[in-house]
Amino acid sequence: MEFRFSEIPYKRMTIEEYKERAQVLIDEFKNAASGEAQIEVHKKMTALDGDFSTAYTLASIRHDANTVDEFYKAEQDYYDEILPQVQAVGNEYQKLLYDSPYKEYLKSVIGEIAFKQIEYSLKAFDEKIVSLMQEENALVTKYQALLASAKIEFNGEVLNLSLLGKYLVDGDREVRKAANEKRVEFFLSVKDELDEIYDQLVKNRDKQAKELGFKTYTEMAYYKMGRIAYDREAVEVFRNEVKTYLVPVAEKLHDKRRVRLGLDKLNAIDEGVYFAYGNPAPQGTADDIFAAGKEMYSDLSAETKEFFDYMLEHELFEVLGRKNKNAGGYMTTIHNYDHAPFIYANFNGTSGDVDVMTHECGHAFQGFVTRNYEFAEFNNITMETAETHSMSMEFFTEKYMELFFKDKADDYRTMHIEDAFAFIPYGCMVDEFQHIVYDNPQFTPAERNAAWKKLEEQYKPHLVFDDEYFGSGAFWQKQKHIYCYPFYYIDYCLAQTCALQFKTKMDENYADAWDKYLAFCLESGKDYFGSMLKNAGLKSPLEKGCVEEISKKIGDRIL
Ligand code: ZN
Repeated sequence: MEFRFSEIPYKRMTIEEYKERAQVLIDEFKNAASGEAQIEVHKKMTALDGDFSTAYTLASIRHDANTVDEFYKAEQDYYDEILPQVQAVGNEYQKLLYDSPYKEYLKSVIGEIAFKQIEYSLKAFDEKIVSLMQEENALVTKYQALLASAKIEFNGEVLNLSLLGKYLVDGDREVRKAANEKRVEFFLSVKDELDEIYDQLVKNRDKQAKELGFKTYTEMAYYKMGRIAYDREAVEVFRNEVKTYLVPVAEKLHDKRRVRLGLDKLNAIDEGVYFAYGNPAPQGTADDIFAAGKEMYSDLSAETKEFFDYMLEHELFEVLGRKNKNAGGYMTTIHNYDHAPFIYANFNGTSGDVDVMTHECGHAFQGFVTRNYEFAEFNNITMETAETHSMSMEFFTEKYMELFFKDKADDYRTMHIEDAFAFIPYGCMVDEFQHIVYDNPQFTPAERNAAWKKLEEQYKPHLVFDDEYFGSGAFWQKQKHIYCYPFYYIDYCLAQTCALQFKTKMDENYADAWDKYLAFCLESGKDYFGSMLKNAGLKSPLEKGCVEEISKKIGDRIL
């Protein structure tokens, strides 16, 4: 299909139009006299959702790329308002699909996994919690606005939290110390508000769960996240393995880094720094990064070459840092234009820019190779699978890092694997914390901080804080997932464990590891996570013994 992103025309889809078209299809579905006829209606429903998603995605990318453009800001506001209504219609349609008299036939076409997903999503939603959900969204927005409001004076500049970020990992310890003091000052100034917002969020989510008949929000969240492949007990086994086998290796790793940095003790302000000079950064301009990306993917495989050329040809990157752009980075899909993957980011001269070429392109590559699948359900992947695609691509592209980092490529690889490995205990901590919080919705802010502090002692025992804010067990307040995407975090830990397995496989036989990875990408969301891993020759991180094995292998390699 011929198109360029900048030339795609935009037209709003109103809620009236959506509802009208959906109603016609819902009636048609009810009256369909066979499974085959229902599948035909299902295709039309997917097309309608595609039309809506295309309009919504275009508006939201263009708004993110220029927040002062009044036209797209109004469009974004419009969709934010109508989205719950669109979801309610979707829910109504899903119920019909799920209760269809031709269910067995439908299952044979769009897959058993799709039906399991629908079952889970129906359990986690009901019209009666819509007003609570709206209140929840408002609280999340309030949290984001509060953090975005930070105006920190530093080095003669006024910075927000993300711009301050680069000083927090400065090679000069005095600079990062001063930057952290400023950050602490800001968090102390909004501490009570942060506690209040979280308290309301926890109580709101607890109420939603109870309205739906769940004992706790934890239970509801597993349905909401579509965790069809594992439950709370399995996650607990994983976290315990991490505590027993992975944390000791990670601690040795931190100590090795401490020596490299020439420090007597590793303080919290040294956590994100890997070398005495600071962290390796890409050399050259944004154009150089793209040129390197092109060279890398051309060499890696025929599929990645085709992918990257396609991305460039259709202008599917919006990644340069600019004033008036929203923070953050993501990959999304433009449904009506070939299901084209699209990458949004903000280049800032750090190694994070290369992550766009490796991590975000990992997501986009998987979207690209599966873009022509007949049913959207085949690509309805859960987060641990999606992050396995992207985090593994970070390792498959490691051998090309000279293209980006020149003489610092080895340093980058050292930083990358240490960072990847040491992330897992932190991620588990975020997950366990949320289990504790939602199991105990009556907790006071002080009790929550005490719980966090206790987890820090288990997962990151080396950690020393000098300041009165982060040192008091309040570090979790800067982790936006805890406020905005509850229970979304263990996914990264599971995915990282799989990516590290791919890493050890590619050390043994790169070509074979790549073939398995490609096959795993192509399976998309067609099977259960554990089965797809098995097909790729990997162990499931939720199986006993997997974390122990990978900890040993990676430990042997990097210690
Ligand atoms: Zn990702």
